[in-house]
Amino acid sequence: MPAIEIEALHKSFGRLEVLRGIDLTVEPGEVVCVIGPSGSGKSTLLRCVNLLEEPTSGTIRLAGVEVTDPDCDIDAVRKGVGMVFQQFNLFGHLTVRENVTIAQRRVLKRSRAEADRIATENLDRVGLADKAAAYPAQLSGGQQQRVAIARSLAMEPQLMLFDEPTSALDPELVGEVLAVMRGLVADGMTMLVVTHEMAFAREVASRVVFMDDGLIVEQGPPAELFGQPREERTRAFLHRVL
Ligand code: ADP
Ligand code: MG
Repeated sequence: MPAIEIEALHKSFGRLEVLRGIDLTVEPGEVVCVIGPSGSGKSTLLRCVNLLEEPTSGTIRLAGVEVTDPDCDIDAVRKGVGMVFQQFNLFGHLTVRENVTIAQRRVLKRSRAEADRIATENLDRVGLADKAAAYPAQLSGGQQQRVAIARSLAMEPQLMLFDEPTSALDPELVGEVLAVMRGLVADGMTMLVVTHEMAFAREVASRVVFMDDGLIVEQGPPAELFGQPREERTRAFLHRVL
């Protein structure tokens, strides 16, 4: 059963049709990277997957559950989907440990001891076990983004969505976040990743999806999409960014 199954997804904001019929399937364990120009609808697509945006029409199934069904318990579905944004959105008044435990306690109703144990495990996974008592402002952007990833992982999601997780970082901090993401890939995590990091996409993606103007223009294995793009729009985009 696919981890994500999107059919004929349309999304409009008022008169602006931002997604114009997206079909996309992601199998368990796949890492699908979405690339494309600014404004092409990449973030909107990701936000529709966990219903941060309500699709105008179309269906989305996550592990077989139709989340676009009005009767769907979206809170239950969201628990299984981690999302990491360009902006880390950590709570500035909470320590790193508290940032990683708060949703575990409030949403998953874990005990303090269990939430702490899982926080430690996941901070260790992103290389920040020694920063548990620090506040976000005491960390670099790369460290803050790694905390945001640990916070998501602590919810033990079936699926991780990343929306340009390195775009807000100084260039020297990008590598440490990509290294953490490579670790997730190695662990077999199912990931849908919007990124401008073409080298990363080429290296880790099972599949690369090129979006333009609210549509998937083409998709394929990275060697094909980067090496022999079939569509002129893909070639023009790659020519600009590579
Ligand atoms: P990308 O992530 O590829 O840059 P987005 O999905 O953020 O593209 O945006 C696609 C288009 O939708 C843009 O024209 C953007 O201005 C518009 N858009 C995104 N979110 C909203 C919103 N909440 N209200 C109105 N327009 C929006
Ligand atoms: Mg975006």
